[in-house]
Amino acid sequence: MALQAPPQADLLALFELPDAEDLQGLGAYLGRTLETCADWFHATGATLFLRKGDSEEYELVARAGAEAKAPLGALIREGQGIAGTAIAKQEPMLLQDPHENASLEGKLLSNRPDIGSSLIVPLTTKALGSLGVLCLSRSKGEQDFSRRDLKIARALAAQIALAVANARLIGQLSEAAETRRLAEIGRMTAAIAHEIRNPLTGIRGAAQVVSDSECESAELGRIIVEETDKLDRLCSEFLAFARPFQLRRELLKLSEVVAPVVERMRPEFDAKGISITLDFSSHEPTIDVDPMRIEQVCRNLAQNALHATLKGGRVEFRIGEGWLEIEDDGEGMSELEMQSLFTPFFTTKARGTGLGMSVVKKIVEAHGGCIRIQSEKGQGTRVRISFLHTEEGID
Ligand code: ADP
Ligand code: MG
Repeated sequence: MALQAPPQADLLALFELPDAEDLQGLGAYLGRTLETCADWFHATGATLFLRKGDSEEYELVARAGAEAKAPLGALIREGQGIAGTAIAKQEPMLLQDPHENASLEGKLLSNRPDIGSSLIVPLTTKALGSLGVLCLSRSKGEQDFSRRDLKIARALAAQIALAVANARLIGQLSEAAETRRLAEIGRMTAAIAHEIRNPLTGIRGAAQVVSDSECESAELGRIIVEETDKLDRLCSEFLAFARPFQLRRELLKLSEVVAPVVERMRPEFDAKGISITLDFSSHEPTIDVDPMRIEQVCRNLAQNALHATLKGGRVEFRIGEGWLEIEDDGEGMSELEMQSLFTPFFTTKARGTGLGMSVVKKIVEAHGGCIRIQSEKGQGTRVRISFLHTEEGID
């Protein structure tokens, strides 16, 4: 069957593609484009592959025509098959009979004897290099594609490449804007948290005077003191979590940091009737950590253990080679609580901030270490922090 050359008005229609913004995203734009393309070129198959990131893989993102059989998402690699060859060579190809083409020897198409002629046009832009490939085919028995068809397909491919490049650029710009916006919000919230702490000191002082007095409002004074203490804790933990920090590492033994924390917190444990111990070897090696930050980690972990444990319970710190462990025989955690443990503001306590474990994680990760948790509801919890990159399990 001989095809007529398409009339000029149709040629304009080919380039009057919808604005990418009018359709829902690039995928829809490319789908419409390929349909117009298959129609106009009388192609029995039209496919468009786009490069996946900077890889050598190209993914089928749009197709049209009865003979376009590969499923969306199908992958080809640079250098593989006809399309991969055109990508590798960065040259458009007009194949009047692909099965007879010597340069494609062994590259295709034993499974597609139906394909007659093909146009394979790589999509490139100067700035981004190879972006994809447009493939058009006609079945055997149809009129072969001509040089004129190839010229038009190249112009169309250039237009598609621009649309793809624009979409990528817009994506990158909005991602960068979102990152900047979040960073700005982070700085503002940290500044507000910082500013809240100053008036809190005054409020607490005044409330303390009222609570110490004999007047009727003494109870109200006590409530204000408690609530300001909670706000103050929230502000300090939030600042510890939100502010970037630089580690000031020193070579030391972990017990030099942990022992003073244990001693400082012992009265709180004694008051609740809970034992707290520290176990370490006399051959303990030195390790390169920031003592202030590790102290903060120990305080947060010890506080959680204290809250979780009942009178008569025990909490034990242990130190080994490059690791630190704290175990309690307290209330333990459910599977769900374990999953949310490091989520900022997750707390099961009426007076909790939900930031203690997020701060612990941030500090441990800054040291290049890792945290593992074992916990069972009603049994207790064990938290192990390894500062060395070993994968040994908790025994
Ligand atoms: P907060 O202590 O303010 O609640 P954290 O981030 O320190 O915030 O802890 C989050 C939650 O994880 C706690 O509310 C508690 O439910 C759970 N949790 C943490 N440590 C323990 C522990 N040792 N035993 C039982 N539950 C714990
Ligand atoms: Mg806590």
